[in-house]
Amino acid sequence: MSGTRTVDDRERPDPAGPAADPEARRAELARGLAEVERRIAEACAAAGRSRDEVTLIAVTKTYPASDVRTLVELGVTHIGENRDQEASAKAAACADLPITWHFIGQLQTNKARSVARYAAMVHSVDRPRLVRALGAAAVRAGREVDCLVQVALEREPDPARGGVPPAGVAEIADAIAATEGLRLAGVMAVAPLGEDPAPAFARLAEVAQAVRKDHPEARVISAGMSGDLHQAIANGATHVRVGTALLGRRKPFVR
Ligand SMILES: *Cc1c(COP(=O)(O)O)cnc(C)c1O
Repeated sequence: MSGTRTVDDRERPDPAGPAADPEARRAELARGLAEVERRIAEACAAAGRSRDEVTLIAVTKTYPASDVRTLVELGVTHIGENRDQEASAKAAACADLPITWHFIGQLQTNKARSVARYAAMVHSVDRPRLVRALGAAAVRAGREVDCLVQVALEREPDPARGGVPPAGVAEIADAIAATEGLRLAGVMAVAPLGEDPAPAFARLAEVAQAVRKDHPEARVISAGMSGDLHQAIANGATHVRVGTALLGRRKPFVR
């Protein structure tokens, strides 16, 4: 593992690991889903919002396609992945299922062509070059790809975590909206490490509102993960991206 801090550094391997027996694994995933649904419902109620306003994206990175299949059987329809190699293989393995695929990780321009073939929404758009690459790829694939501007909420943005600072969001949003093959759908952020997520998500809500002034159709706010979905929903999140709380702790991430 490099010295760079990533989202995954907050995690420790689960000594027990996922159940090997398919029936036991199914029961684990069902329990995880019920608990996450309970937390989402509770957060919506606390915020005076309807449960329908929040889409749950199950983040299945590092877990096998069999888990994706089970989650879909349990009623999940939105699946998130953060690496193209893994995501494209799972999308192919699950091509028979009614899944909306979300690409949530940092994206290199040379992977845009692959991602545009399966992703309905790319959450991590943070630079003009990537906008151009994704637009060309979407046109080539004959698809319309929803794009979110990833906002860096850190006081001192860390390039390794991706995202554009709030002052740069309008430029990327305008570029997406002007690009054939792409639709500007909204904004996305990951809460800064070591900071109270609530004020950070409040800043994201302000950024989202500013984007909607110029682009009323850009209504998505993708925020909130296993540890902070409550604060995200309190601050207007329309999409929460949940991995650990659904599927269990991941093995440490090695790039
Ligand atoms: C892994 C990941 C998630 C899910 O995180 P959990 O804490 O496991 O719920 C959400 N968003 C992004 C961008 C991720 O990389």
